Amino acid sequence: MSLDHEPNPRWDCKGCGKDWPCDPAREALLAEYRNQPGQLAMTMCKLMEDATTVLGQHPDDMFERFIAWTKPVPLDVQHPS
Ligand SMILES: [Zn+2]
Repeated sequence: MSLDHEPNPRWDCKGCGKDWPCDPAREALLAEYRNQPGQLAMTMCKLMEDATTVLGQHPDDMFERFIAWTKPVPLDVQHPS
């Protein structure tokens, strides 16, 4: 995990220059908050608010970028017998 994938003031990634959160940043956040998915969603909500204000974007356009990917995907569906 690289620590360089952090947002600059214009919400580009310092590490790779893509829109933040880039894929490595998302993976790092998902790993960091893997036991607290609600906390991650709240954190990203606040960041989205900041980014929306700075960039002058509509929140609907920022949802996929900041929030949609925080939803946990079950790796393995359990079938209790
Ligand atoms: Zn990056």
